[in-house]
Amino acid sequence: MPAVWDLPDFDAHEGVHFFTDSESGLRAVIAIHSTHLGPAAGGTRFWHYADTNDAVTDALRLSRGMSFKNAMAGLPVGGGKGVILADAARTKTPQMLAAFGRAIESLGGRYVTAEDVGMGEADLVTIGRETRHVSGLPVGAGHAGGDPGPSTAMGVFLGVKAAIRNALGKDSAEGVHVAIQGVGSVGGGLARLLAAEGARLTLADVDQTRAERLATELGASVVSARDILSIRADVVSPCALGAILNAESIAALDAPIVAGGANNQLATPEDGDRLHARGILYAPDYVINAGGIVNVTLEYLGQGDRAEVEARLKLIPGRLEAIWAESGATGQTAARVADRMAMKLIGRA
Ligand code: NAD
Repeated sequence: MPAVWDLPDFDAHEGVHFFTDSESGLRAVIAIHSTHLGPAAGGTRFWHYADTNDAVTDALRLSRGMSFKNAMAGLPVGGGKGVILADAARTKTPQMLAAFGRAIESLGGRYVTAEDVGMGEADLVTIGRETRHVSGLPVGAGHAGGDPGPSTAMGVFLGVKAAIRNALGKDSAEGVHVAIQGVGSVGGGLARLLAAEGARLTLADVDQTRAERLATELGASVVSARDILSIRADVVSPCALGAILNAESIAALDAPIVAGGANNQLATPEDGDRLHARGILYAPDYVINAGGIVNVTLEYLGQGDRAEVEARLKLIPGRLEAIWAESGATGQTAARVADRMAMKLIGRA
C-alpha cells in the first residue's frame, strides 16, 4: 500500500487516523480533511472493502466532500468521515461500535460522527455511550436531529424545484416529469413530496419490489434500474449510488436537468464539463443534499429546533441559484463553480 500522502485522493488532509481493537476486531479509519470552520463532521460508513486501500481512499474522498458540503451549507463545522472495515459477512457487534466510540473520544472532539451507509440510529446510540461527539441520535418531536434522511429529501425537493424554475420557468412541480434512481430514504421521501405537488414520476430501484410498491402508492411508473438514466424526462434525480454520471450515461441522458440526492454523482471532474457541454442544468450534489447534515449538526451543536432546520433547508435553492448564475456569467461548469466557492470558504482558495 502506498503512503497515505501518495494516494490520489489525499488533499492536504489535516489527519488520517487508523484504529484497531483486537478484542472486538475493530479496524477503522477516521479522516479529518479540514477543521478550518469547526470540528470535522461527517458520518461513519460500515462497509466491506475487498482492498484496504479502497477503505482509506473512501475516507479521504468522503471527508473532503464533507468539508465542501458543510461549508456550502453555512455550518460552523469542518469535514471528516469515519470508515469501519467490515468483514465479508458485515458482522457488526456492540463491542466493535463501543471501541469505535472510544476511538472518536480519543480525538477530543476534532471529529463528530453521524449515520452513513451501513449505520443506523441504534448503532449511534451504542457509540454515544463512549463519546459525546456523535449526532443523528433519536430526538423528540420538534427537536433538530435524528434520522437525516427526511431532511435530505426535503432539501433535494426544494433544490429540484429551483432547477425546474431555472431551466423550465415553472414555479411548481405540477405536471413535471421526474425520473428517480433509487427510492430508499432520500429518493422515496423525494418521490412523496413531488407526488404531493402533482409531479409525474418514473421510479427505478435495484429492489424492484420497493419501486413497484411506492409506484402503486403514488400512481407512478416504474422502469428498470438500467434504463432510468436515459428515459425522456424533465428531471433525472440520482438518489442511489455515486459515480453514475460518466461519459456513457451523460451521452444517453434525455432530460434538461440532473438534480438528486446521491453523493459523488460525477465519476470524474470532467463529467461536470460533459453535462455543461450538453446544456444540462446540474445541481452540485453536496449543495442540494446537505439537508441531513444540517439537521444532525444543529442537533450536535444544540443550536435550534426543527423550525430552524426547516428555515436552513429553504436556503438551499438560493445557493444553487447563485452557483447557476455564476456558471452562466463565467461559462464555468456548475460543479467547478461550487468547488471554487467551497474551497474559498475553507481557506484553500
Ligand atoms: P438507502 O439505502 O435508503 O436507499 C438507496 C436505494 O437505492 C435503495 O432502495 C437501493 O436498493 C437503491 N439502489 C442501489 N443501487 C441502485 C441502482 N444501481 N439503481 C437503482 N437503485 C439502486 O440510501 P439513502 O439514505 O436514501 O441514500 C441514497 C443516496 O443519497 C446515497 O448516495 C447517499 O450517500 C446519499 N445521501 C443520503 C443522505 C441521507 O440523509 N440519507 C444524505 C446525503 C446524501
